[in-house]
Amino acid sequence: MGVSLAVLASGSRGNAAIVESSSTRILVDAGISCRETFKRMKAVGDDPHSLTAIVITHEHADHVYGLLVLARKLNLPVFMTGATHQAWVRSVRDATGEPPDTDRIEFFSSGRSFQIGDIEIRPFTIPHDAADPVGFTFRAEGVKIGFVTNLGYMPPSVCDHLCSCDVLVLESNHDLEMLRGGPYPWSVKQRVMSRVGHLSNEKLAQFFASDYDGNASYIVLAHLSEQNNHPEIARCAAEKALGRRRTLLQNRILLAKQAEAMPAIRL
Ligand SMILES: [Zn+2]
Ligand SMILES: [Zn+2]
Repeated sequence: MGVSLAVLASGSRGNAAIVESSSTRILVDAGISCRETFKRMKAVGDDPHSLTAIVITHEHADHVYGLLVLARKLNLPVFMTGATHQAWVRSVRDATGEPPDTDRIEFFSSGRSFQIGDIEIRPFTIPHDAADPVGFTFRAEGVKIGFVTNLGYMPPSVCDHLCSCDVLVLESNHDLEMLRGGPYPWSVKQRVMSRVGHLSNEKLAQFFASDYDGNASYIVLAHLSEQNNHPEIARCAAEKALGRRRTLLQNRILLAKQAEAMPAIRL
């Protein structure tokens, strides 16, 4: 079987991905409905009832929208940080009048590795305007996957975590010119562009040109804005930055989509 990654949905209308080894299957974020998660898992050949756990990056709705129903229906443990949990409980209480009735919450701390089945997970802090947002690396069977979306910029600590990954899922949120000239109100544009907002194609290109070690066989561009980006613009920006380093032409660039699951990457 080996290790695989499938991005089920990616973008501001919902995020979910599956990281799996031969014996363990983890849902990373639950930002689309339970029904849609089931549908997309089946589309990539996975049985939702075989999931082992859910891990959450941060409490924004596009990452937790389907969480309560999914966790209850599948009776799954949910892993998140204490601060993310508090913020999530508050928002569920504000929306429904009651706190979420999940009893299978497991806490992790940024910077401390933990294990789910045979997958080792290392959460690390990323700069984003949530309570305690994290990126992850996943290791199993000699394969390392880096997963970082929803961050305003790439601090050196994040670049360090992304060393020697076989697969990278990285945010390529917006094209700066499209965002500046686009329909968002100025305050929203400022938030997206800020150091706790979202990573632009340009900032990701900078990472590729200077800090990236060139190790990944696959690079998945993720969390693309539907208003302020275009898949081909994001792909071109990444290819151009990688193309400057001739040794990196082997890196395959894929695009995660909002509307449908991406075929699984098998390693
Ligand atoms: Zn998001
Ligand atoms: Zn967010």
